[in-house]
Amino acid sequence: MKFEDLNLIKNIQQALAEEGYEAPTPIQEQAIPIILEGIDLVGCAQTGTGKTAAFAIPIINNIHRIVGSNKKVKYIRALIVTPTRELALQIGESFDTYGKYTNIRQLTIFGGVNQVSQVDQLKKGVDVLVATPGRLLDLHKQGHINLDHMHHLVLDEADQMLDMGFINDVKKIIKLTPENRQTLLFSATMPIPIRELADSFLTKPQYVSVTPISSTAEKVKQQVYFVDKGDKRKLLYHLIRNESLNNVLVFTRTKHGADNVVKALKKNGVESGAIHGDKSQNSRQRVLDAFKNKEIPVLVATDIAARGIDIESLPYVINFDLPNIPETYVHRIGRTGRAGNSGLAISFCGSDELTYLKDIEKLIKMKIKVIDGHPYPFDANAPKPEGQKPDLRNKPKNTNQRSGKAKPAGGGDGSRKSEASKKNKKRWY
Ligand code: AMP
Repeated sequence: MKFEDLNLIKNIQQALAEEGYEAPTPIQEQAIPIILEGIDLVGCAQTGTGKTAAFAIPIINNIHRIVGSNKKVKYIRALIVTPTRELALQIGESFDTYGKYTNIRQLTIFGGVNQVSQVDQLKKGVDVLVATPGRLLDLHKQGHINLDHMHHLVLDEADQMLDMGFINDVKKIIKLTPENRQTLLFSATMPIPIRELADSFLTKPQYVSVTPISSTAEKVKQQVYFVDKGDKRKLLYHLIRNESLNNVLVFTRTKHGADNVVKALKKNGVESGAIHGDKSQNSRQRVLDAFKNKEIPVLVATDIAARGIDIESLPYVINFDLPNIPETYVHRIGRTGRAGNSGLAISFCGSDELTYLKDIEKLIKMKIKVIDGHPYPFDANAPKPEGQKPDLRNKPKNTNQRSGKAKPAGGGDGSRKSEASKKNKKRWY
């Protein structure tokens, strides 16, 4: 199928051609005709499948048919609710890109920044409002947002909104919108509360799904390193230096953890930056731009902050900590292998994280390949009383059987790595 077959206005087709989009992705192929018809939709799609364009394109198409070249009178006709600022910015940019040959004006609003310029823009009038839940409710309460003319409501990354505790805000927002709206709900996973949300607020929705629920991106190679918690930073540095990893997105469970990783890498001459909820919007954007422009080789992020990151061809994702929610693992590794590119997702698993690993493997219905030829296996470096063997009680029993004689990532030679790692070790202390 081609974009021409989807009956889209020329203005959009031209913008898509300039973006180099040759054909719709599977989610776009399925969702666009349904949305153009005005039917409610539940889309089960991972990030990286082209789902933003799947809803942005038909919404722009529909609004353009109504507003045409009228630049003056503006009403909010589409509202997109999304969990994070980064994701909101990315969606806003997509509307700008696909709608650049229309008169449609979009505004992106989110918390953590002064509201004055957002309110000014709202006063001037916008057709599409992209918002995070808190700021949206805030500005609505203050009387700056009128949703009476809204027709398209998109709930994006619904499962993440659930994880972040936004579900009640989302329900409140839905109640502020006209009943005759079209509602589109997108989610990478479909936990029960999300299905209930769809049942309560959508009218006879059609369901489209591009990957089976919770399946991981097929092109992503996945590996796990069993490593002591205290050795994770050394292992990270070892991999970045010895495997010459560039363009690496590192996930940590906490903001504090993210800052610590950045500090440790810096101490060893590896430039990186962190993005998380405690960083100002400007600082996040600066770091993200530096990473995208390849000025820094490593970006460290917490799950929430990483949600909206859209970087094409991201080759490496490292789970410095394993997430305690298995679905989060799916989201994380979906950051690599995007838009048809291949990727490698490396996970560090400490002895306290074995149950998380088990849950993840259960969810993705496969065993992740274990890499055991690395210099920091469980407890190997721990000082032991004389004559006592290293304590390997926590080492998973089947590690070797599962992995075989796996080489470290990059397929390098083990002895070279041990030598190099000795050098690294010196620098670490
Ligand atoms: P998303 O799933 O919305 O985060 O999109 C993932 C990436 O795919 C983004 O970088 C888009 O620019 C890109 N993309 C979306 N649709 C297409 C398409 N039809 N052809 C090529 N790239 C696309």
